[in-house]
Amino acid sequence: MIARTHDLAAITALGVVFLLMPPVTLSLATAMVAVLANLIGGIAPDIDQPTAPLWRNLPVGRYFGRVFGVLLGGHRFLTHSLIGLILLGFLSRMLLTFLHPIMGSINSDIVWWAFMIGVISHLVMDTFTKEGVPWLLPIPIKFGIPPLKSWRITTDSAVETFIILPVLLAFNCWFYFQHYSEIIYLLKHTIVY
Ligand SMILES: [Zn+2]
Repeated sequence: MIARTHDLAAITALGVVFLLMPPVTLSLATAMVAVLANLIGGIAPDIDQPTAPLWRNLPVGRYFGRVFGVLLGGHRFLTHSLIGLILLGFLSRMLLTFLHPIMGSINSDIVWWAFMIGVISHLVMDTFTKEGVPWLLPIPIKFGIPPLKSWRITTDSAVETFIILPVLLAFNCWFYFQHYSEIIYLLKHTIVY
């Protein structure tokens, strides 16, 4: 999947979780940092790819990306597995603990969950692609839905651009429309400034 699809999938997942398990209170600063963390989480597993957005936007990023990719075992390897998920969870937790003194009133638990929801959405979305995801590393089997490879999505294909992206967008519209009054209630009662 391309970064745009992953961004949309991450924010979709965050919206659904927010509505199903709303926090008791949420500051505006926490909400903004959580959305940012969610989007970063949504593309984080692709740091094993030299062409990942993170590397593309850095001056010598491509070289770093290549080295990183090799260290992580190549594309769709460590960062695309349950072990990688735990590792990313652990590292991001450490980073948030380190940043805690400068984070003020930002709720790092919510930010961490938003990041992890992004990462999980990435792995789930990649599971629908032809390459599949090696969920159970070190067992070297790549899993995919549906199991038949030819029925899965090709990354950056017309299907992804003209079916998956619009379906995700339509789902968001439907979801927010369905839960409109609940969302307004939550926004009024959970957001503290
Ligand atoms: Zn990926």
